[in-house]
Amino acid sequence: MNAPSHSAQPAFTLERQREVVAALNRVLPDGCVLFNEEDTRPYECDGLSAYRQLPMVVALPQNEAQVVAVLNICRTLKAPIVPRGAGTGLSGGAMPIADGVVLSTAKLGKILRVDPYSRTAIVQPGVRNLAISEAASAHGLYYAPDPSSQIACTIGGNVAENSGGVHCLKYGLTVHNVLRVRMVTIDGEIVELGGESLDAPGLDLLAVFIGSEGMLGVVTEVTVRLVPKPQVARVIMASFDDVVKGGDAVANVIAEGIIPAGLEMMDKTSSRMVEPFVRAGYDTEAEAILLCESDGIPEEVEEEIGRMSEVLKASGATAIAVSQNEAERLKFWSGRKNAFPAAGRISPDYYCMDGTIPRKRLAEVLMRITEMESKHGLRCANVFHAGDGNLHPLIMFDANKPGEFERAEAFGADILELCVQVGGTITGEHGVGIEKINSMCVQFSPQELEAFFAVKRAFDTAFLLNPDKAIPTLHRCAEGGKMRVTAGLMKFADLPRF
Ligand SMILES: Cc1cc2nc3c(=O)[nH]c(=O)nc-3n(C[C@H](O)[C@H](O)[C@H](O)COP(=O)(O)OP(=O)(O)OC[C@H]3O[C@@H](n4cnc5c(N)ncnc54)[C@H](O)[C@@H]3O)c2cc1C
Repeated sequence: MNAPSHSAQPAFTLERQREVVAALNRVLPDGCVLFNEEDTRPYECDGLSAYRQLPMVVALPQNEAQVVAVLNICRTLKAPIVPRGAGTGLSGGAMPIADGVVLSTAKLGKILRVDPYSRTAIVQPGVRNLAISEAASAHGLYYAPDPSSQIACTIGGNVAENSGGVHCLKYGLTVHNVLRVRMVTIDGEIVELGGESLDAPGLDLLAVFIGSEGMLGVVTEVTVRLVPKPQVARVIMASFDDVVKGGDAVANVIAEGIIPAGLEMMDKTSSRMVEPFVRAGYDTEAEAILLCESDGIPEEVEEEIGRMSEVLKASGATAIAVSQNEAERLKFWSGRKNAFPAAGRISPDYYCMDGTIPRKRLAEVLMRITEMESKHGLRCANVFHAGDGNLHPLIMFDANKPGEFERAEAFGADILELCVQVGGTITGEHGVGIEKINSMCVQFSPQELEAFFAVKRAFDTAFLLNPDKAIPTLHRCAEGGKMRVTAGLMKFADLPRF
């Protein structure tokens, strides 16, 4: 085992690093405590790679008892902890803290049980989202929430972010598909939230925990709900010569009383970005493309596809194609699913925003985003969960050009402010992390922020779990110019990190 050593200027002393490493080495097996720069470098960021921070130490516990031991050590030594799954998060939630410990769940990757009778699976937090569906497939079941990152992201990360996906419009987000979470608090206590049944007595702490971004406890086990695989699924691809008509069509489909299995929209920039890459047959002349899926038994799907086609035509669709077989359905979806990587083909860097708006305001918001492109001098592609009103503007920039990253950040902040203005919210599924922490000041009052801190303090008495993420202090809001503070008018004092 090497002793820690460094020559650069780290945010911690060598003595401190040695102290934490020695304590962790006493409770974790060989190779499960990383501290050399070449070993910790891969943990310096998540999917929001514009923000980076090398951690002091990375701990890789192999079981729940070791998670408890790591948390006990961190609490005793007052070392902040950042839980980490696969690091695919897009809001900096898993970005390390300079003088802290990253607790990775990479070695907690077992599927403990798949029960076709109760239609549930019990899994460790490091299990990949898609691996759950793969394991359940033999029983004709699957796990419905399907983030586009499902090949890599973990269920622990999904719980922490309350992740969504294409099929969440019909089947619900993570919070609707998780029955029970087992987690360890900063005090080293093992707590179970929820249960195997659909309802549990007492306050719904499971719902409080899901989406808490690693700030309340470390997930060690999850019971998920499984649903039967539909007998058949078909998708409509509809073209529109006007983004406004496409946006209105989304609202019209839902207003007709239809809940599609997926309802996604791509603007012209997006379809032109992905088509040469995936060759999904997208209409690259259309200003907007809608993908509307129906699943269920064949008769039900036939009827729903017919009704949706009628609504889309009445809303001004210029062309409609319906998938004729499973291969074609997957081809239609492949463009949507590959939109983020495809952005890398046309721009050196991109910034994926995530905000939610009422569906009926879609068209108006898309027009406003187009106006913002000129204001900030940057291009933006829109590809998103239209049925949920969950926008994902991809802002293109070149980090090597001075000032472009700052302009992209300002563009993103403007979009989030617009989401709040039209009655929406600053996040749909990617969480707040560090990326949107200043935008929290726009959406919430000082009283609401204080209520969030009160919940955090109730779980994390030591204020060590992913501190300084997701909830802004009032000082931060005031310094960022997002909240007006006048002497005597601020009711709540700032909250110290202790
Ligand atoms: C190409 C791409 C497409 C994406 N598409 C979608 C999408 O369609 N829908 C969507 O919702 N998201 C999407 N994401 C975002 C991301 O994949 C999700 O937020 C995902 O849930 C993160 O999981 P992870 O395992 O990578 O978590 P990480 O990034 O490692 O961590 C995310 C957060 O969870 C916390 N955390 C992780 N594990 C634990 C644990 N065991 N206990 C407590 N806290 C924990 C971390 O501290 C952090 O705050 C996408 C990302 C990419 C790169």
